[in-house]
Amino acid sequence: MPVDRLLPNPDAADLIALTRDICSRVLDPIVDEHERTETYPEGVFAQLGAAGLLSLPQPEEWGGSGQPYEIYLQVLEEIAARWAAIAVAVSVHSLSCHPLLSFGDDEQRARWLPGMLSGEQVGAYSLSEPQAGSDAAALQCKAVFSAGEPAPGYVINGSKSWITHGGRADFYTLFARTGEGSRGITCFLIPGDQPGLSFGKPEEKMGLAAVPTTSAFYDNAVIDAERRIGAEGQGLQIAFSALDSGRLGIAAVAVGIAQAALEDACAYANERTTFGRKIIDHQGLGFLLADMAAAVASARATYLDAARRRDAGLSYSQQASVAKLVATDAAMKVSTDAVQVLGGVGYTRDYRAERYMREAKITQIFEGTNQIQRLVIARGLTTA
Ligand SMILES: Cc1cc2nc3c(=O)[nH]c(=O)nc-3n(C[C@H](O)[C@H](O)[C@H](O)COP(=O)(O)OP(=O)(O)OC[C@H]3O[C@@H](n4cnc5c(N)ncnc54)[C@H](O)[C@@H]3O)c2cc1C
Repeated sequence: MPVDRLLPNPDAADLIALTRDICSRVLDPIVDEHERTETYPEGVFAQLGAAGLLSLPQPEEWGGSGQPYEIYLQVLEEIAARWAAIAVAVSVHSLSCHPLLSFGDDEQRARWLPGMLSGEQVGAYSLSEPQAGSDAAALQCKAVFSAGEPAPGYVINGSKSWITHGGRADFYTLFARTGEGSRGITCFLIPGDQPGLSFGKPEEKMGLAAVPTTSAFYDNAVIDAERRIGAEGQGLQIAFSALDSGRLGIAAVAVGIAQAALEDACAYANERTTFGRKIIDHQGLGFLLADMAAAVASARATYLDAARRRDAGLSYSQQASVAKLVATDAAMKVSTDAVQVLGGVGYTRDYRAERYMREAKITQIFEGTNQIQRLVIARGLTTA
């Protein structure tokens, strides 16, 4: 049963209908096979891009669709309900466009944004390193300025880790060290075919198997100085500002996973009979499903609240952390309970419930673990 959404206008309803159509025609028929065989779905991002779904929230001025975040996130939720790996990559693409959009100068935006937002390119976000995940300021990958010929540039050396879409993306938003401490980090825009840049083999993950997550290695990679985004030393501020929006994307993805788990569990509970009645008619199980439905609806409300604040130009950092925490914990609980509703078959790969459970787990970890979200929320509660 599709989600009955309260949308602000008919255009938004059309966009949701278009997304559902693409999900049914393009994603649903191939998701199980690609997730099982851990193979990349060639051509899928091109189709999403051609439909305008890769650049929904970015301004029309630069080639985006200028959609409010409230709408973009609901589209993302719909995609995640069919294929979480694709939705995560779409969210990470938006995350990787944010620094250039918000901190680039007009010349840089005019040069690169149209390509990044045309739907033909997919971006990746490269902040984490083996020793720097939650503690992003501990990153060590170095960018050293060189005034050399033919143009001034930066020489980059070091390793990055955990890059969603690593080795497949067309550009990488990179954070590297140009000085000491948390104010010594700088943001760069790296083309996918950058000489001196190579990638590790895809990580063997619990879920999201169809889109690779890799390390990256910079070996004397020389990039033009004009590919620096923002000022030297502004990188961590840029990274965290992008993550406020990115966390909302992950919250929406988590709600999509939870919604799919709820729908599959309800369908099964309305079919399966024990002791002469449908299992949903046993109050013990009906109440479990009721709690799942309540968790999904309340998680959706938290990301919509944060998104509406963002759309209204209000601060939303705290609300984004609340949404990420609430929605991803809900996804983990709801997807685990969905496996329970299906009983023995829920534990097999014949049904999607076990995949939802594996997918839900990562949403509690990336783009700031839920421990880190609690740190952010607690800081906001502390009086000076
Ligand atoms: C599938 C996948 C995709 C990813 N995609 C990307 C990507 O595209 N780009 C990117 O840059 N990164 C990406 N990441 C990295 C991800 O953001 C990090 O894994 C995450 O931030 C956690 O960092 P860590 O793994 O180093 O864990 P750690 O920081 O080592 O944390 C380990 C544990 O300690 C806890 N902890 C740490 N510090 C504190 C504290 N102060 N208080 C309480 N608890 C604490 C954590 O919550 C966690 O439970 C991805 C990771 C995965 C698994």
